Amino acid sequence: YYRRSWSSESSDSVISSESGSTYYRVVMIGEHGVGKSTLANIFAGVHDSMDSDCDVLAEDTYERTLMVDGESATIILLDMWENKSEDEWIQDNCMQVGDAYLIVYSITDRASFEKASELRIQLRRARQMEDIPIILVGNKSDLVRCREVSVSEGRACAVVFDCKFIETSAAVQHNVRELFEGIVRQVRLRRDSKEK
Ligand code: GDP
Ligand code: MG
Repeated sequence: YYRRSWSSESSDSVISSESGSTYYRVVMIGEHGVGKSTLANIFAGVHDSMDSDCDVLAEDTYERTLMVDGESATIILLDMWENKSEDEWIQDNCMQVGDAYLIVYSITDRASFEKASELRIQLRRARQMEDIPIILVGNKSDLVRCREVSVSEGRACAVVFDCKFIETSAAVQHNVRELFEGIVRQVRLRRDSKEK
């Protein structure tokens, strides 16, 4: 699936499976070390707290079906983002293939918060005509004494960038499930408003 997804055109990429579940391709982006892979591992059920088993499709691609508001949704989570400039090809692809994005920073690292803003701008440039669902994710909320970015700063940034905001802790598994349910809801909101 992962190979096919790279080469397929990015429009109309929210597709329905035979089982009636809808697929959502969710891409994680953000500075190195903010906790993307740790969040992905929780999603993958390494410490299981979600509905169903996860299929690992490739080293950094995970698939899992969740029930959200009584409707099933299959998330294909891509955790292959690299910030190094020699990985420009990966970056361009990441910017093109997502139905939705999680822009992750660490609340203990102001530079990663600034990077999140840069990535938002980069994403907007890559997908100019589209209204892409995004959640700005302030991870490591358990590290209260190392906090460098306040909740209100995170929230204000999300307002400016016209996206949702959530603080999570992958370490203590706080708000992780809410994060993945939230991104499904964001895609659905746009789908439903298109249908009307
Ligand atoms: P990535 O580079 O964005 O994929 O970041 P990783 O998932 O590899 O995490 C980087 C480091 O931060 C690892 O040592 C994780 O254990 C740690 N980490 C990730 N999430 C959290 C969190 O919510 N709280 C704390 N305290 N540490 C975290
Ligand atoms: Mg990683």
